[in-house]
Amino acid sequence: MTIVDTPERRQLRELTRSFVTREVLPHLSDWERAGELPRSLHESAAKIGLLGIGFPESVGGSGGDLLDSMVVTEEIIRSGGSSGLIAALFTHGIALPHIVAAQDEALIERYVRPALAGTMIGALAITEPDGGSDVAGIRTCAVRDGDHYVVNGAKTYITSGVRADFVTTAVCTDFPGSGSLSLLVIDKGTPGFTVGRRLEKLGWHCSDTAELSFADVRVPVSNRVGPEDTGFLAIMQQFANERISLATQAYATAQRCVDLAVRWSRDRQAFGRPLVARQVVRHRLAEMHSRTEAARAYVHEVAERVAAGQPVVTEVAIAKNVAVSACDFVVDAALQLHGGFGYMRDAEVERHYRDARLLGIGGGATEIMNEIIAKGMGL
Ligand SMILES: Cc1cc2nc3c(=O)[nH]c(=O)nc-3n(C[C@H](O)[C@H](O)[C@H](O)COP(=O)(O)OP(=O)(O)OC[C@H]3O[C@@H](n4cnc5c(N)ncnc54)[C@H](O)[C@@H]3O)c2cc1C
Repeated sequence: MTIVDTPERRQLRELTRSFVTREVLPHLSDWERAGELPRSLHESAAKIGLLGIGFPESVGGSGGDLLDSMVVTEEIIRSGGSSGLIAALFTHGIALPHIVAAQDEALIERYVRPALAGTMIGALAITEPDGGSDVAGIRTCAVRDGDHYVVNGAKTYITSGVRADFVTTAVCTDFPGSGSLSLLVIDKGTPGFTVGRRLEKLGWHCSDTAELSFADVRVPVSNRVGPEDTGFLAIMQQFANERISLATQAYATAQRCVDLAVRWSRDRQAFGRPLVARQVVRHRLAEMHSRTEAARAYVHEVAERVAAGQPVVTEVAIAKNVAVSACDFVVDAALQLHGGFGYMRDAEVERHYRDARLLGIGGGATEIMNEIIAKGMGL
């Protein structure tokens, strides 16, 4: 059914399921309305070791690899959580890996350990108002002035940006759009760094999303992640994990919606018979199930290759698109099977339908994945 079914991963599933049941489900609707998660959730997830999954113990993590992180994602959604919840609670999964890879002890001490302990929240800021797909075209610039950089520019659609204590920020260290990128960790409260309004969105309601602006923000050179001008490579290297994570959210959401639709179709009566008594309904459920199974199998296979360090850039792009496409089909079909109730805020499928729409946009949109796939085909 799932990635290598070891006793440790079965335990991890159990731990995740009881966490979601106890700490998340009673409050998720309130957090969706509030537009953000409470900080206390980060602390309680950290206490039982969930936040640190996928990060080495040497930097304050709980150990494990990409496959263990996928187990957590699968189980959160299977238990009634959501991709929005994962985006907000595990934003450190995109904010920290560059710092860990750079092996900068001072930055690890100041940002990685507290984030994995749930006492600080981090965000990753790449996208700008002028564009997100074209990462090399970033225009937020950092100009060196002694032992500081002076940063000017703006970022948008930044997950956890409202709550974040620090932001791993992609900046241009040459002229705007030159593609010479570096990553700077910028603290909330640094003069000139403003967090704009909380952006209202179609889905991912429990995940706060912000606009950030930088006006002559002085950032110590020691807050640079790795050598200057290595930011583009660092961002591209971490995209594989982010894309596999989004692909996992996609097939896991699809699986949850298959489960909800099967249950609903057994219970709901129309014209004197349960929905599932109709062949057209059974075939629709069979197609939803088939697409979900196929997506999961492919994503698992590619994830195992990513975890083994193989260069599978094209396959990762295929995995994301295949899983997102399966998810789009399934959430739509599941909502339709629920009829009018599917359109109601009280229906879990309604939330998945809205949340899922992001998966083909974030972490590299479907069209950008197709560009990568076409390149991989030698086109
Ligand atoms: C809820 C949410 C959370 C997000 N969180 C973060 C975050 O934490 N950090 C962060 O940095 N960003 C974040 N993003 C931004 C996200 O990564 C970008 O929205 C995404 O990369 C697309 O960039 P864009 O919106 O600027 O679209 P654009 O780049 O302007 O693209 C617009 C459309 O054109 C298509 N397109 C672009 N170029 C091509 C091409 N060459 N060929 C064919 N089609 C093309 C795109 O696929 C897209 O469909 C988030 C976005 C959302 C909505």
